[in-house]
Order: sequence, then structure tokens, then C-alpha cells
Amino acid sequence: MAQTKEQAHTWYLKNKERRKAITEKNKVHVAAVKHAYYLKNKEKRKASDKAYVLANLELVRARQRKYYKAHRESALAGAKAWRERYPHRVKKNSRSYRESHIEEHRVDGAKRRAMKAKAPIGSFTGKDWTEMKAAYGYRCVYCQRKKPLTQDHVIPLVKGGMHGKSIIVPACQSCNSRKSARLAPPFQPVLYAV
Ligand SMILES: [Zn+2]
Repeated sequence: MAQTKEQAHTWYLKNKERRKAITEKNKVHVAAVKHAYYLKNKEKRKASDKAYVLANLELVRARQRKYYKAHRESALAGAKAWRERYPHRVKKNSRSYRESHIEEHRVDGAKRRAMKAKAPIGSFTGKDWTEMKAAYGYRCVYCQRKKPLTQDHVIPLVKGGMHGKSIIVPACQSCNSRKSARLAPPFQPVLYAV
């Protein structure tokens, strides 16, 4: 029997609905599969993302800067909203950051500079630095003033000094930067053994 135009159209409409239903069903299925895959590989993914960031730090930072520049307003608004929503976390973050990281960062920075100067590297940890400052009464070894302290190499790195706790002393910024190479302070309350 020959199909009439009307019959063909009815068939088309019927199938259109069917096709739509299949697509919808598939969508849900695809999303479920994707989500299951995501959950299964979450840790692996996190690790590889982290590795990528570490390996491409400059690139990632440049991208972040670019993104931030383009979305500055919303980024600032988002950060502000977060701070307002979680004030205790802001407080906790900054306090714990100060307490646990600043000295380590200072130590890391000094070590990086020493490595860059190709100086021999000894042991000098954030804990060493904290203890050392306490041993010197939180005073600069040169001017004896209580000022924010920096790590001064008694034997300057440029003169072959080692970066290690046996030759680092706490000095204020102005005494530290007054001359790049100088003799050891005459009085040493503490000089660590290497
Ligand atoms: Zn000083």
C-alpha cells in the first residue's frame, strides 16, 4: 500500500518524539557515566592537576593573572563574598598562615638565594631560625635594636660562606644591607655547630 503524505508526516512526528526521548534519556545516562568517571578518578585527577601546575608554574600564574585582569570585578566580589560568609575562616587562615609559614618562607627564600649564589648549603630550618632569634633576644646582632630580623651570613656568600645555621645571625634590614661583605660581629651569644 502506498504511503500517503499524511501517513508519512504522522510517522515523522511520531519518530521525532521518540528521537527526542532517546536523546534525553541518553543525556542523563552520559552525565551519570561522566560523574562516575569523575568520582573514580578524582584523586588521580587532583594529583595530575597539581603536578601540571607545579611543572608549569609560570604559565599557570600568567593565565591566572590574565583571567584575573579580565574578571577583576567579579573575582574581587567573589573573594569579598567568601570573606563575609566565612569570617572565622579568614581569621583562622591568616593567623595560622602567619604562625606556620612565614618563618619557613623566610628560610626558604634565603636558601633559594644562597643556592642561586652557588653557596654550599648546610642545614637551616624554620625552627632553627625561630630558636636563633629567641637566643639573641630578638635583637639585631650589630645594632642591638629590636627590629624585624633578617638572616645575615657572617661569612658572606660572595666570600665563600656557607648557607647554614653555623654562620647565620639575625640582623635588622638596615644593618644587613649596609654592606654586603663584612667580618663577624665581635660578640656572639650563639653560634650553632653545623
Ligand atoms: Zn641592626
